[in-house]
Parts: sequence; C-alpha cells; structure tokens
Amino acid sequence: MSDNPRIAVFPGSFDPFTKGHEHIARRAAAMFDKIIVAIGQNSQKKSMYSLERRINWVQSCLADLNNVEVHAYSGLTVDFCESCGAKYMVRGLRNSVDFEYEQTISQMSHDLKPEIETVVLFTHPRYSAINSRVVREIIKNKGDVSAFIPSSVDVYEK
Ligand code: ADP
Repeated sequence: MSDNPRIAVFPGSFDPFTKGHEHIARRAAAMFDKIIVAIGQNSQKKSMYSLERRINWVQSCLADLNNVEVHAYSGLTVDFCESCGAKYMVRGLRNSVDFEYEQTISQMSHDLKPEIETVVLFTHPRYSAINSRVVREIIKNKGDVSAFIPSSVDVYEK
C-alpha cells in the first residue's frame, strides 16, 4: 500500500447485509486502497440482527478481498471517517428516493468536514430493488429472501 493510502468508509446499518450492499462494497474495494465497511450503531433505531452477527456476515461475505475491514461505530459518520484517516465515504444509489436522502446527507457532511468526499455508486439494475427494510419484512413473514442476500448470510440461523 502507498504511503498515502486512499481509504473509504462504506457506512450503513446492513440489517441484514444484502447482495446490493455486497456489490457496492466489491466495486468500492476495486477503486480504493482500503475499504472500511462501517456498521453504525444508532440508539434511536433498533436493529433486527445483533451487531456481532452483522459484523460476521460482512466479514465472511468479503473474506476473499484483502483490502476490506469491518468496524462498528457510533456518532457522526464524518467523525468516524476522520478517526480512520478516510477521505472518502461511499454510498449506493438505487433510485430517486435514495438520491434525495443521499444529497442531503452528502451536503451536510460536506459542511461538517469539507475534506471528506462522498462517492456515490449507482446500483446495478439487478440489485436496485433490494431494500433491507423489505427483506426484514419478508423474513418476519417467513418468506424466502435467498434471492436478495449473499449465501453466507444466514438470517434464519438462531
Ligand atoms: P442506511 O440505513 O444508512 O440506509 P443501509 O444499510 O440500508 O443503510 O445501506 C447502506 C448503504 O447501502 C446506503 O448508501 C444505501 O443507499 C446502500 N444500499 C442499500 N441497498 C442497496 C442496494 N440494493 N444496492 C446498492 N446500494 C444499496
């Protein structure tokens, strides 16, 4: 790795990690020296899966990549980026709803820490309908989510 590695944080709740998240993480890993998949802990937002399981899923799913780390964080994402020496924040964009949200977050993050650049990757059409919230609803209703999540993500295991 160079003396000045290009480090990017890919933040999210990944509850659970989907094929859409995986595709963005892999594309980002090909663009940067190091990717940190950062699982945000939000006291206002109760997750369906424990932090430990979400970390394990991302680690096992991306185990073949040698420039990916998985961390948990709390607080502002831009502060976490700064603490890891990351100058880039990667986000995935599925549709115009994501666009509105990501634009707001990106502009406010820029006001807080102008040195951190948000890099938005458009979702591959194959994955653009995959949404963690809908995946959770299907799981709660005992439906089959295998088309939406990587095979190493075992959401049914207790
Ligand atoms: P958040 O709760 O912050 O939206 P998520 O875990 O849902 O976090 O998503 C993390 C990031 O992954 C966000 O940038 C989101 O837009 C992106 N993302 C979510 N689902 C997909 C998908 N199917 N394809 C590409 N990007 C996605």
